[in-house]
Amino acid sequence: MPVKLYDTLTRANQTLSQPTGRPFYFYCCGPTVYGPAHIGNFRTFLIQDVLRRVLEVDGFKVKHVRNITDVDDKTIRESQANKQSLKIFTEHWTEKFHTDCQSLNLLPPSIEPKAVDHIDEQIQLVEKLIEKNHAYVEKDGSVYFRVHSCCDYGKLNRIDQSELKTQSETSSGSTNLADEYDRESISDFALWKARKDEDGDNFWTSPWGEGRPGWHLECSAMVHSTFEGQTIDLHGGGIDLCFPHHENEIAQSQSAYEQTFCTHWFHSAHLRVENKKMSKSLGNLYTLDELVAKKHSPMALRYTLIASSYRQPLNFTFDGLRASESALNKIERFTEALLEKINLNKEQFNEDFVTTHQLKDYGLLQNAWEGLCNNLNTSACLGSLFGLIGSNPVSKLNASETENLLKVLGSILYALGLQLFSNPAQALEAPQAILDLAKERWEAKQNKDYATADSLRKNLQNKGWDIKDTPTHFELFPLN
Ligand code: AMP
Ligand code: ZN
Repeated sequence: MPVKLYDTLTRANQTLSQPTGRPFYFYCCGPTVYGPAHIGNFRTFLIQDVLRRVLEVDGFKVKHVRNITDVDDKTIRESQANKQSLKIFTEHWTEKFHTDCQSLNLLPPSIEPKAVDHIDEQIQLVEKLIEKNHAYVEKDGSVYFRVHSCCDYGKLNRIDQSELKTQSETSSGSTNLADEYDRESISDFALWKARKDEDGDNFWTSPWGEGRPGWHLECSAMVHSTFEGQTIDLHGGGIDLCFPHHENEIAQSQSAYEQTFCTHWFHSAHLRVENKKMSKSLGNLYTLDELVAKKHSPMALRYTLIASSYRQPLNFTFDGLRASESALNKIERFTEALLEKINLNKEQFNEDFVTTHQLKDYGLLQNAWEGLCNNLNTSACLGSLFGLIGSNPVSKLNASETENLLKVLGSILYALGLQLFSNPAQALEAPQAILDLAKERWEAKQNKDYATADSLRKNLQNKGWDIKDTPTHFELFPLN
C-alpha cells in the first residue's frame, strides 16, 4: 500500500518513494548532546521512528541517518560550565540519549554520524561555497553564507522574496553569528566561526585560520558524506528546525553541489506541557528519567507521544499519560486472550509475531494499517484497533483466524513500536542480573513450573529484591 506523508515543501501529501535500485534515504537532525533529551525531543524522534517502521512494514528498505550535534554554542558552553572536555561531556550525553532511545524502543539509525568526526568535510564544503561565490571570508577569519546569492532561499518556508530583499538590504553588512536566529532577522549566516576565547580548546585549523563550524553546516556535510552525494528522499526534524536550519541546509547543499538536496520535508509539531511551552524556568521540562521516577513506564510515554496527529501540537498531561497506561493494558489483555486461545505465550508473541510480516491483507485491522499509511494517522489506527477490541471478537474466531489476527496485530504493533508485556519502568531500576532472574521466574510461573518459580523467588529475595505479580507482568521492588 502506498505510504503518504505531508511534505512541508509542496504543502501537500505525497506518496513516498525512492529511485530504483537503492534504499529509501531518510535523514533526521539528531540531538544536541548537552544534557538529557526532554520528552519534546522524543516526540519528534518517536514520530520519525514510527515513519521508519511503517516504511519497513510496507516493504521499504530504509537507510536512516540521524546525526549527533556535538559541537555548537550550547555544547561548548555547557562542557565548560561542567569543567569537562567537549569530547567527554558530549560522549556522556550521547550515551544517555542511547539508553533513553532503547527504553522507548526506538530503532537505532543505520548510521549515526557525529559532527566533530566530519570537520574536514565541513571545511571542504565551505571551500566549495567560497569558490562558487556563495560565501565570503570576514576580516576576523569567520566565513558567511551570502543569502542573496541563492535565488531559492526561503522556498521551504515560503518567505516572500521581497521581504527577504528588504530585510537583507536593511541588514546589509550585518552578519549573523548565532547558530539560531529569528525569522525576523534574515541575514547572512555563519558557516565558519573564527576562534574566540570562550571556545577554549574547541577549535580546528582551516584555510581561514582557527575556528569551528557553524551549526547549520554539519547536516549538509554529513548528508553529503553518508548518502554518497545523492539527493535524499526525506529529511525530518521538529517544526522549529524548518527555519532557519533547514532553509540554510538547502541553501548550502544546493549552492555547493548544484542538485536537489532533498525531495520531501517532514516536520512534526511541538510538545507542550500542561498547556504551556516547555522551559526550564517553568519547571515543566520533563525527561524520561523523571517520569520513570514517578512510576510511569517508557512504553506509556511512547504511546502518549505518538498517539495523536504529529502535525498538531500535543499537550502533555499526567492524566493523558495514565490514560495511555490503561490503553496499553487493554491491548495487552486483548492480545493475551488471543494467545490463550491458541496456547501461545507472551514471549512467543513478542518474538514471532511483532515484526515486519509485509502482509497483503490486514483483515480485521485493515483500517488500522490504512490509517498509518495515510500521513501517519496514528489516532485513526488506534481508534480502529480499539473498535475491534470493543467488538469482543475472540470467541468468534477459529484457530487459524486467531493466528492471522495475531500476525496482523504484531505488524501494527511493530509499526507503532509498542512493546507489550514489558515492564521497563521497573527494569530501569533493577540491575540486569536481577531482571534476568525475575524474567526466568516469570517464565517458570507462566509454564506452571511453580517449584522453579518459588526457588527463583527465594534467590531474588536473598539478593534483596521481591516480586509483585499483576495479571500481565511482574513488578520488581527492592526489599527495605
Ligand atoms: P535539539 O536536541 O535541540 O537539537 O533537538 C532535537 C529535536 O527535537 C529537533 O528535531 C527539534 O526540532 C526537536 N524538538 C525540540 N523541542 C521540541 C518540542 N518541544 N517538541 C517536539 N520536538 C522538539
Ligand atoms: Zn540538521
